[in-house]
Amino acid sequence: MYTQLSKDLGFELKRPGSLVVFYKKTEVLIARLLKFLKVTGLGHLIKPLRQFMKVPGLKWLNETEVNELEPNLKGRPIGGFWMTTMGIVEPHEVCMAFAENAVENGVEIKLETEVLDIEKTDDEKMRVITNHSIIECKYLINCAGVWADVIAEMVDDRFYTIHPRRGAIAIFDKSRKGFINTPCGVVSNTDRTNNTKGGGASLTPEGNMLWGPTVTDTPFKDEKTVEPQDL
Ligand SMILES: Cc1cc2nc3c(=O)[nH]c(=O)nc-3n(C[C@H](O)[C@H](O)[C@H](O)COP(=O)(O)OP(=O)(O)OC[C@H]3O[C@@H](n4cnc5c(N)ncnc54)[C@H](O)[C@@H]3O)c2cc1C
Repeated sequence: MYTQLSKDLGFELKRPGSLVVFYKKTEVLIARLLKFLKVTGLGHLIKPLRQFMKVPGLKWLNETEVNELEPNLKGRPIGGFWMTTMGIVEPHEVCMAFAENAVENGVEIKLETEVLDIEKTDDEKMRVITNHSIIECKYLINCAGVWADVIAEMVDDRFYTIHPRRGAIAIFDKSRKGFINTPCGVVSNTDRTNNTKGGGASLTPEGNMLWGPTVTDTPFKDEKTVEPQDL
């Protein structure tokens, strides 16, 4: 989908792949099991694996191959699982491309406009009260990110609350270009009980290296501080 979207909307998409690096024998064994399920097609019988079965371009690397692909990895990796088709984009470029396309198709964008309250009317419509004007509508899409629970509460939906977590990503200068060839992570980065959102060492389409993100629970939805210990 994104290959076509990047052509249609004119944003940059690169596919450097994504590598999961193995340091433990158990990780290699689990990867071998996944390979068996993928190659034989038996993974289709296991519901949580059905999405994985559709992913093209998967490669299982041995110790030599993983070290040849990424010679700067820490410690002694003993194998890797390389998803060669994983893609990267510049998020703001994608947002701008979608916004421009929406405007071309008749959407009106109101910038610097804050939803303060929502009133339900008798004829099953809504009056969205903003800091600039009142917008009447029949349908409202709530895409307020970590503030979505606050918007939902304006229409008396108290079904969920969002507990924010802030995170930091270190972005490196382009002079470090080539330190990694493909975004890399370790299996423990998928364990959400540790101090990362998942991730590892990634890349921007321009080639800057990104490390992170960290994760820290915060009571404040708009907290964007970066502490020295994050780095
Ligand atoms: C450090 C970090 C790294 C991440 N890395 C990745 C990654 O590599 N890949 C990935 O897929 N995801 C990543 N994520 C998650 C991703 O950024 C979010 O899931 C995504 O941005 C959510 O998009 P959204 O449109 O739902 O919400 P947001 O992008 O948060 O947009 C919500 C918008 O609603 C607006 N808003 C809120 N309240 C109101 C109001 N009352 N009135 C008007 N407007 C309002 C806000 O101003 C904001 O513009 C990362 C997140 C963090 C914090």
